[in-house]
Amino acid sequence: MNRLTHISVNVDEYLGLNKYEVDEDHAHIVLAENPDREAFGALIRVCPAGLYKLNAADQPTFDYAGCLECGTCRIVAGGVIVANWEYPQPTMGVEYRYG
Ligand code: SF4
Repeated sequence: MNRLTHISVNVDEYLGLNKYEVDEDHAHIVLAENPDREAFGALIRVCPAGLYKLNAADQPTFDYAGCLECGTCRIVAGGVIVANWEYPQPTMGVEYRYG
């Protein structure tokens, strides 16, 4: 049986506890121009931080500022939509709370 379970956890609330040192001068993830819509839809579903979105005009948007550095988007769309993925420079990016 394949049942969907209602998720009662407020993910945004937990994500809001994270701290980031955003490198405004250097994006550690760079997307290709005019990304394929179907592939972009996959990124909307897999990014745990919800950084891949469609705006009100139904255009793809992305902001690396809240990245958790999990690497999922690189695995799913590296070389397709994700043109470049690297860890942020030392002392930049997400600050892990448990080491
Ligand atoms: S590395 Fe993880 S958190 Fe960061 S943008 Fe990719 S999927 Fe989202």
